[in-house]
Amino acid sequence: MDSRGSESPSDAASITPGLYLVATPIGNADDITLRALQVLRGADVVACEDTRHTGRLMQRYGIAARLIPYHDHNADEARPRLLSRLAEGGRVALVSDAGTPLVSDPGFKLVREARAQGSAVTAIPGACAAVTGLQLSGLPPDRFMFAGFLPPRQSARRTALGELRAVPATLLFYESPNRLADALADMAEVLGDRPAAVTRELTKLFEEVVEGRLSELATRYRNEPPKGEIVVVVGGPEAPAVDAVDVDGMLTAALATSGVRDAAAAVAEVTGLPKRELYARALALGRRE
Ligand code: SAM
Repeated sequence: MDSRGSESPSDAASITPGLYLVATPIGNADDITLRALQVLRGADVVACEDTRHTGRLMQRYGIAARLIPYHDHNADEARPRLLSRLAEGGRVALVSDAGTPLVSDPGFKLVREARAQGSAVTAIPGACAAVTGLQLSGLPPDRFMFAGFLPPRQSARRTALGELRAVPATLLFYESPNRLADALADMAEVLGDRPAAVTRELTKLFEEVVEGRLSELATRYRNEPPKGEIVVVVGGPEAPAVDAVDVDGMLTAALATSGVRDAAAAVAEVTGLPKRELYARALALGRRE
């Protein structure tokens, strides 16, 4: 698929037929790529969640696109029409109200079915609130899991959090302002009182990042209900306190089947304790035998 045409960007022929997943801004209207604009200009139709909302974006960039609604409530009827258009060699752009389509937004089935019928599918990357929140959170970004929206009801929310408790990664959640304090309190209870960050109104005038333990954040937002759009970032499970772990017991068990180096490495992996210290301790235990 080629969206790099040398002709005028308004020339529809400047993009090849297929489905384009086009990221749009999450707040600051300037956060849109040159390629996104080129595809939106070249598309025969732009499928979007809300035609008025996307219409304003098009207007800002002087794009006269044909907008077609594609949202959770009409997707099953709208999808076959979009697929027929693609099968006939059409150029279809998919956008959501904000950010990256398919990330807590519609589009997954359209992608799957377009590919199954042999249509070309590509993505025009750009803004995504989860990734922006992660960048600003100050929490380890090397391993993360996007967990989307938690269920609104407390019992289902706690069950969902329970499933995430052992995930060895930073967790990312989308949350609404009116449920934030309850969600943070449940996170503190179910995940443990981990370090976290509430990132709010990203890329907008009142962008804010508040760091703290989950319980502190729950209290803060209970007292001062927030406004705007929110990504909650939660640190992964913390290494157990050294004295809470039976290091000698674990090393002794590991030494029964492995050499000193491997035993130290295995216990370091499980506990997060420094390998060098475990190696020294394993040597000492080995000598005692
Ligand atoms: N597809 C979007 C993306 O790429 O981020 C997410 C769509 S999801 C329906 C909307 C949720 O994303 C909001 O409720 C909020 O949790 C989060 N979000 C979107 N824009 C945001 C922003 N500017 N700041 C913080 N969170 C945002």
